[in-house]
Amino acid sequence: MNDADQADRKPRHSQSGKGRYEDGTVSFADLGLAKPLLRALSDAGIEEPFPIQAATLPDALAGRDVLGRAQTGSGKTLAFGLALLSRLDGGEARPLRPRALILVPTRELALQVSDALTPLAKSLGLWCRTAVGGMSFPRQADALKRGVDLLIATPGRLSDHVRQGTCILHDVQFAAIDEADQMADMGFLPQVREILDLVDPDSQVLLFSATLDGDVDQLIKRYMHNPVTHSVDIATASVSTMEHHMLLVSKQDKADVITEMAAREGRTIMFVRTKHHVDRLADKLRSVGVRAGALHGGKTQGARNRVLSQFRDGDMPVLVATDVAARGIHVDGVSLVVHVDPPADSKDYLHRAGRTARAGESGTVVTVVTHDQRRTVVRLTDKAGVKPEATKVRPGDPDLIRITGARTPSGEPVIERAAPARPQRGGPRGAHAPRRTTGGDFRRREGSRPRDNHPRDDHRREQSREGTRDFRDGAPRREGAPRTREFHSRTTAAPARGWRDGDRRYKSDRG
Ligand code: AMP
Repeated sequence: MNDADQADRKPRHSQSGKGRYEDGTVSFADLGLAKPLLRALSDAGIEEPFPIQAATLPDALAGRDVLGRAQTGSGKTLAFGLALLSRLDGGEARPLRPRALILVPTRELALQVSDALTPLAKSLGLWCRTAVGGMSFPRQADALKRGVDLLIATPGRLSDHVRQGTCILHDVQFAAIDEADQMADMGFLPQVREILDLVDPDSQVLLFSATLDGDVDQLIKRYMHNPVTHSVDIATASVSTMEHHMLLVSKQDKADVITEMAAREGRTIMFVRTKHHVDRLADKLRSVGVRAGALHGGKTQGARNRVLSQFRDGDMPVLVATDVAARGIHVDGVSLVVHVDPPADSKDYLHRAGRTARAGESGTVVTVVTHDQRRTVVRLTDKAGVKPEATKVRPGDPDLIRITGARTPSGEPVIERAAPARPQRGGPRGAHAPRRTTGGDFRRREGSRPRDNHPRDDHRREQSREGTRDFRDGAPRREGAPRTREFHSRTTAAPARGWRDGDRRYKSDRG
């Protein structure tokens, strides 16, 4: 990484006594954050604002609408999070009625944002709640009833809460929309619009996105007032701490090359196209001694959370994942990303690559390419603006070891431990948790389907890439699929045809 880039990502300044750095840039104290927030930030090891935070916080704290053009890994969660918490400071939590709202596209991202902001919210005595698909609806409803200042939500589940009357959005005065372009890509904008139509029209809106054109621009025009734009130009692929490689392999060697890379030391994410392939590869890696976990939309949310936390804790160094499941997740210290199957397009290449070299760390991105894939991969890396170094490799090859740290796996199968009964947010869950029947009762009684971002929905998106279909009777409406016209009408009224149309639209969106 050259010095200029380093300075761009993570400023290193000496601090003068008054909170302003000697070179003129600001510190968190200088931005006027409340003392308890400063202490909580410091407790979390966060001492100096990243560029996107230093750029956006003064405007956001002054009450202006802010457009932030920034990628994941730039520190944007705290850019909007600190602004919202500061704006909420001093107010009173009310049951069911959040005063601030953060909308994110995926459950994993919602939980990540919640993990980052909850300790900061606590320091100010504010209540941060989540409304996220795949987790207990009644438990979320109970939490909202106990009082909420800041709500972090995925659009589908929040819409369900609104319909059930377990969340009322009219008091929302501050809203942040994170990863707006992903939200558009995933077909969630109709729901985002329905939600934003319900909040106070004078709300302050902060919108963060890697791109600000197309559908995102429509959102900006409709909901933002005279926004000020701040861009932090660290396009994921141009992060100079990230190395890109194409490993040219024969079809016969591909499996062994992948296994040897997986057996390396350090955290590795391997991306494949379908959930079946994810399961197959993770099983195969475990059978030769690599502790690997599978993450895809066909798994229950409990299983997804468990795998991610094992990966985060370092219990399991290899994560095999599909694109959908891994979008937006942040895990520190991922040093290698492997495109086992080439991504569908340049955007997916960048999203996958962005799991490494985050927050100033270094990382390597490797695309495994067989002869027939080479032309496609070159085209999409060109479009992504990266020039990967192409190297022919075979199992055991010194170049393979040099680039990825590949090793021969032990060959001793990994013995599966029973899934631990990890307590989850809001109480125990998983196979060993006491069963709560209220979820089913609640849903049946109210006749709704509060299950946005349902594993099966992701699964269907993944399947749709393969061209296979998986529409079962009674399958839930996909989060981005067309909804019945009247927002307050029951989802059960949504005809099956609508879901199919939704999926077809998704397919054509993806080209
Ligand atoms: P984000 O882009 O919000 O996902 O943040 C990426 C990572 O950077 C997260 O692990 C944050 O905890 C970390 N981070 C964000 N802001 C700062 C900061 N000012 N100083 C140190 N780490 C930070």
